[in-house]
Amino acid sequence: MHITIVGGGFGGVKAALELSKDPKSKITLISDKTDFQYYPGLYSAATGRSHLQAWVPLGEIFAGINNIQVVIDTIATIDKATKTLKAISGAKYTYHTLILALGSVTTYFGIKGLDQYAYGIKSAAEIARLKQHLLDEFSKPEGADKDFLIVGAGPTGVELGSALGTYLNDLKVHFNKPEPRMKISIIEAAPRVLPRMSEKASRLVHERLTQLGVHVELNKKVEEQTVDSLIVSGKPIKTNTVIWTSGVANSPFFEANTGQFEISKNHKVIVDKYLRSSPDVYVIGDNAFTQFSGLAQTALKDGIFVANHLLGKSKKPYVAKMPPVVVPVGERWAIFEYKKILLSGDIASRIRSVADFVGYSDILPFGQALGVWHAQRIKEDSYFPVVTPRA
Ligand SMILES: Cc1cc2nc3c(=O)[nH]c(=O)nc-3n(C[C@H](O)[C@H](O)[C@H](O)COP(=O)(O)OP(=O)(O)OC[C@H]3O[C@@H](n4cnc5c(N)ncnc54)[C@H](O)[C@@H]3O)c2cc1C
Repeated sequence: MHITIVGGGFGGVKAALELSKDPKSKITLISDKTDFQYYPGLYSAATGRSHLQAWVPLGEIFAGINNIQVVIDTIATIDKATKTLKAISGAKYTYHTLILALGSVTTYFGIKGLDQYAYGIKSAAEIARLKQHLLDEFSKPEGADKDFLIVGAGPTGVELGSALGTYLNDLKVHFNKPEPRMKISIIEAAPRVLPRMSEKASRLVHERLTQLGVHVELNKKVEEQTVDSLIVSGKPIKTNTVIWTSGVANSPFFEANTGQFEISKNHKVIVDKYLRSSPDVYVIGDNAFTQFSGLAQTALKDGIFVANHLLGKSKKPYVAKMPPVVVPVGERWAIFEYKKILLSGDIASRIRSVADFVGYSDILPFGQALGVWHAQRIKEDSYFPVVTPRA
């Protein structure tokens, strides 16, 4: 059985690993990057921790597995009638069975200026750009920005906001620039932080952010970014540092290939009870219109589900399940929520640490997972701007 997978992220890598357990399977994994990106570690890589925890070369993940072939290319079009994928390199790939796991992209919801001036932390290039900007700010003779704004109080905004203060303090020390009036704010349109968690979880996290000195601005609408300000609910805030964590949208691949997929109102791909968009094409992870799509754990589960289905190990239909959520908020403090269980503080932070290890061991053998997990604790020089995934 030959299976083609597009996407070297959580869903694609997990599906490939599971399928490879059957020696009769032959898997071709096409990805536009040489690395697997561990998104939950990006905020930490952006605030001075080792980049080794956030990027793992695909070659390392699949080392010693002979029935997986990795191709680095960007797929642009699909023709289901001829079972052909076309890449931007000009190459054509025919498939027998296809799994699409292309992930999400950043969206600015059409808000003027953000695409030009805002920073992001969704890729190595974005993080390198942000870190370089922070270095430039601290190198300015007139001193750095007074206001550091993070837009979005979802998990990424909260994680980043709570870690940024320590990183900026390191930069102050490194550049010998005491800067008394430095303010970190998280701006959110919803009435509470972490709006997808319970109200009690939101309240605890809000209190924790306040303790850490992070300002939280709720019910505030970002209207425009200019060269030196962010306009929030009609008022300009003077700053050069706006980090956008607010919007993600489905990969544009699906809407670009008009007529090949049925698309839901939230722009995801409608799939059947086996995660298929058509008989030989499976769509998983962030791309699929399932209840808990948008989470790494859902993508991993989807990868396992599709592999088991294809290998004939299970004929049961897909059941969406809410995975546990755990969000770190500064050193040794996190919030954990699963069904009716809510934990906060050091205990939740330990759960997150274990969850990260489980996340790495989902894609790497034990020893390698341990090494990458350990890298979370390693501090890089705070003035180290270049984030280069290992090739
Ligand atoms: C900053 C951040 C932090 C997050 N933190 C968490 C967290 O703590 N917990 C959690 O559960 N979830 C988290 N998420 C969400 C989680 O990362 C995603 O739900 C998960 O990555 C989805 O897996 P996927 O396989 O669908 O896509 P991805 O993991 O994004 O993989 C998609 C892959 O496809 C490749 N690709 C894209 N387009 C093409 C193309 N045209 N051709 C070839 N290859 C292509 C990409 O390079 C990538 O390798 C976070 C997301 C972000 C942005």
